Amino acid sequence: MKKLGFGFMRLPLTDNSDAGSIDIDIVKKMVDIFMKNGFNYFDTAYPYHKERSEAAVKEALVERYPRNSYLIADKMPTVRVTGPADYPVIFNEQLRRVGVDYFDYYLFHNIWKKSFRETEEYGGFDFIKEKISSGQIRHFGFSFHDEPELLDRVLTMHPEVEFVQLQINYLDWESPGVRSRECYETATKHGKKVIVMEPNKGGSLINIPEEAEKLFRAMNPDASNASWAMRFAGSLDGVFMVLSGMSAVDQLLDNISFMDNFNPLTDDERDVIKQSAQIMEKSLAVGCTKCRYCTEGCPLGIPIPEYFSAYNSYILTRNMGNAGMYYRRYAAGRSLASECIKCGKCEISCPQHLEIRNLLEEIAKTFEINR
Ligand code: SF4
Ligand code: SF4
Repeated sequence: MKKLGFGFMRLPLTDNSDAGSIDIDIVKKMVDIFMKNGFNYFDTAYPYHKERSEAAVKEALVERYPRNSYLIADKMPTVRVTGPADYPVIFNEQLRRVGVDYFDYYLFHNIWKKSFRETEEYGGFDFIKEKISSGQIRHFGFSFHDEPELLDRVLTMHPEVEFVQLQINYLDWESPGVRSRECYETATKHGKKVIVMEPNKGGSLINIPEEAEKLFRAMNPDASNASWAMRFAGSLDGVFMVLSGMSAVDQLLDNISFMDNFNPLTDDERDVIKQSAQIMEKSLAVGCTKCRYCTEGCPLGIPIPEYFSAYNSYILTRNMGNAGMYYRRYAAGRSLASECIKCGKCEISCPQHLEIRNLLEEIAKTFEINR
């Protein structure tokens, strides 16, 4: 199976201010190029593009190609489920929207502490088992944005899960907020296959600092910045699919150029990526090195490096959805940035001399006010 998956979440639009205005003619063209080059994995979800992504899959793919020529991944929107009765209603609606009678891959969308608790309570895993028995789901997994400890627990409790979809990219690999590497290692420890989402960190690994780009160019003048990010994800053992939310034909062609006949990274290339990531980390808004000396003395146990990581991600990408989600995950059951009592203990132990109190104030304004 070729490792590039077409994510239907950043499709070309006719009106850039309206996520629902999908330019279906360009999407059809992209689908044709994708299929013609031997790729066939499509990823959608209930809420994407103001709930029009699934219908776009139907129009651009399902109504134009035989069912056995492509694979579709769709996701149960855990956030919408309020009780057991919602599962069949939403699932049937999704089959209708996409225009199919089974999904090749089906995921719980966004498992984290709260959604996992609810999914257990509402019998979500039993519902999936029924659908696998009836043939309406061929492969089952979940997308995940929480801590590796929870991932370990979910996979231990549910060995029937076949794969996990994780946010993996070379900038988040060691980030304390996302903990990509630890999540990946947890999934592979359980013998699960991995699908990668956000390999370009929502596009922020495309426009990178000049110094980092120079390193890439020196090693391979023809390789795009996207190719480094995609190949980083695709080179990991156990990764069987790397999703890309493609918005234009040229992005698609670029992706195809290196994901067809995929070449895993060499050791030298891995080193260059590491160096580039270090350069990018230095250019982040908060120069926190994640040493965690600050957290030892904090009377409230505020997860300072994690909050800085979410904030850096927001400043880098301006994507409040993703960064805000990580902030909320880390804040769940812990003290918020706004609850800091300004005792200053953390600043005494910070080797980077960061003004942690002021930064937490800024972070509270960014993530907590009016959200
Ligand atoms: S200033 Fe705030 S973050 Fe720092 S140790 Fe005190 S309560 Fe914790
Ligand atoms: S002590 Fe400073 S550099 Fe270390 S984790 Fe805390 S804020 Fe970051």
